[in-house]
Amino acid sequence: MPVEPSFHIAVLPGDGIGVEVTRECLTLLEHLGKLDAALRLDFEGLEAGAEHYSRTGTALSDPVLARAAKADAILFGAMGLPHIRYPDGREIAPQLDLREKLELYAGVRPVRTIPGVHPVLADPRAATIDFVLVRESTEGLFARRLEASEIDDRVATDVLEITRPATERVVDFAFRLAARRKPGESPKVTCIDKANVLGSMAFFRKVFDEVAARHSEVGADHMYVDAAALNLVRKPWDFDVMVTENMFGDILSDLGAALLGGLGLAPSADIGDKHAVFQPCHGSAPDIMGTGKANPIGMFLSAAMMLDWLADRHGADACALAANCIRTAIDRAFASGAVRPIELGGTDTTSDVTTAIIKAIDALDD
Ligand code: NAD
Repeated sequence: MPVEPSFHIAVLPGDGIGVEVTRECLTLLEHLGKLDAALRLDFEGLEAGAEHYSRTGTALSDPVLARAAKADAILFGAMGLPHIRYPDGREIAPQLDLREKLELYAGVRPVRTIPGVHPVLADPRAATIDFVLVRESTEGLFARRLEASEIDDRVATDVLEITRPATERVVDFAFRLAARRKPGESPKVTCIDKANVLGSMAFFRKVFDEVAARHSEVGADHMYVDAAALNLVRKPWDFDVMVTENMFGDILSDLGAALLGGLGLAPSADIGDKHAVFQPCHGSAPDIMGTGKANPIGMFLSAAMMLDWLADRHGADACALAANCIRTAIDRAFASGAVRPIELGGTDTTSDVTTAIIKAIDALDD
């Protein structure tokens, strides 16, 4: 029998509820490791974030970045606190630094209705929502975010930069994802842009069309970002994979999370060719930190994405199995009413949710 590989995971809990949901996620992953000796993960905790900045003057130090870059994967809670800022007023956001420095160009935001979670939309088709938003994460309107925006006291500008290589790689990623996501169904990638108004967006669409031509097995269409916002509420079940610019993706992915019923349910991955970071879509939620109200499900689903990514890259069957366990246990726990997080109107605290999901995992073999 071939020995399953072991994986070194860098863990950056960050700030606020990032710390709380990361702690629960490690409990879950360690439990899975006890159930299957072939799942071999070891964890290295690393400090970064707004609190770290206020203590040390650095949000994400070079040694921490180097340790994270050496790991097989990076698990990330949330970073940033509104009251801790750089002198120019911007917030501390090491998650953006990580994306740029590790070339994590594809922000993958899956939106899938969890059976048993009351959908936000009344239409019965809301039960079938299952799409992925792919957000370009290294340029777009964030391209020059570290440069001064204020020209004088009357004008401030930001630059929306679209380059061919960055667009080609993220669009190609979206097509490859669509091709394998739902075997037996007709895959489609929708380009979300503003090509009717902005030259940079017309260029994004042109490059999209060129890449689409190389993936004739996958359907392709376009939608303006304003129409996409409308259709994400009107008929989100029609989407399969969407690909878009950084800022548009930032906004639409929160809309997607809202469709799920709560921000605490939404997972994400930031993927590059060599590295990847897995984190829930939410932030540090200072309004609920320390209250036990944080829902860790988005973090658990992000960990499942990490295990899938490791399984794909390294042929690690135990990781694929563990990822499926997490998702199936979450689906069953919600469908049976065994878990009701406070976020969704229930009474389960952060650690109650973990206990319920672990119970559901233990019941999978029965
Ligand atoms: P947020 O995501 O932290 O919170 C928005 C709302 O959703 C809050 O009412 C919060 O209580 C609720 N919420 C979020 N996650 C939840 C969970 N798991 N369970 C239950 N309720 C949850 O967004 P915000 O308030 O705009 O930002 C707070 C801080 O987080 C800011 O400093 C912001 O910059 C930072 N932030 C970080 C990330 C990241 O690390 N990737 C992402 C977004 C925001």
